[in-house]
Amino acid sequence: MTTVALIIPVHNEEACINALLGEISTVCAKLVNRFSINFRVVFVDDGSSDNTCLRIEQNKLSDIPMTLIRFSRNFGKESALTAGLSEAAEDDAAIIMDADLQHPIEMIETFIERWQQEQVDVVYAYKESRRSEGIFMRIFSTVFYRLLNYSNRYEIPKNAGDFRLISQPVVRAILSMPENERFMKGLYSWVGFQQIGIAYTPNQRKFGKTTFSKSALIALSIDGLTSFSIAPLRLMSIVGFLISLLSALYFVYVVIERLFLTTAIPGLASVFALVSLFGGVQLICLGIIGEYVGKILIESKRRPTYVISKVQLFGNDVD
Ligand code: UDP
Ligand code: MG
Repeated sequence: MTTVALIIPVHNEEACINALLGEISTVCAKLVNRFSINFRVVFVDDGSSDNTCLRIEQNKLSDIPMTLIRFSRNFGKESALTAGLSEAAEDDAAIIMDADLQHPIEMIETFIERWQQEQVDVVYAYKESRRSEGIFMRIFSTVFYRLLNYSNRYEIPKNAGDFRLISQPVVRAILSMPENERFMKGLYSWVGFQQIGIAYTPNQRKFGKTTFSKSALIALSIDGLTSFSIAPLRLMSIVGFLISLLSALYFVYVVIERLFLTTAIPGLASVFALVSLFGGVQLICLGIIGEYVGKILIESKRRPTYVISKVQLFGNDVD
């Protein structure tokens, strides 16, 4: 029988677990009959400091086997997803979702339906609209995706997150990638395969609070961008070239002015302005190069992506 693993990263989500498992149980019970599928739930506890693990133990489902992988500390969502996927490498498909019920669980049905009927390898959900997010985040995300997809041979779909179904070959392809800094949005697309997107509107977070502040999201985006694209380096070369061209033209103009025109040579102020402008541009460029050098340092250490402190199994045949 086909087995589908639900992979759920959790970090300080004690308030969500009860409701989440309740919904999973209801939705899966319906789908088991319709598709004759076995479900299992894989929780990856990303170093929670609250009672998340205890809640999972207390609310274990009677009809669906569950695995709880506990990290030794907080390693970040991308690492938690990687651990979840490697746990699910033997299953026919993995469905990734958040613990906070923002990803409507009923959509699992559509994921499985499209996966089975259309023989695709990935069914991902993308946000239909970002209208609720404020002008700053919308402009930021547009620029982010432009840079990210600049001259790549594959496209990272806009507004698609981790909420998706991935079939076994794709899970294995993603796991085969050796990098330490795992920008999952990029990895999902890099591997290729037949992928389809479904529009959805995320729910509001019902319990607990988000761990991703605006600044954390921006930091994550910069990490993603520098892991997946060299567009900023190219952009630097283009800006450098344009500035050099303009400076050369200006130099010619100054010489002509000095030799043939009688106007006074501009004073120190303009020299200061230009020197500080170029100083600033150079520092920005150095910073961008620094980001990439930092990436090389991190990758060259070859440290593991996460450290597991404990694995617990709950379920009909294992308990
Ligand atoms: N999460 C995680 N590690 C972290 C932060 C978050 O595993 O360091 C999990 C979190 O428990 C949730 C999912 O990632 O299941 C999405 O987190 P959140 O709801 O805070 O993010 P948002 O929905 O605001 O993007
Ligand atoms: Mg959330």
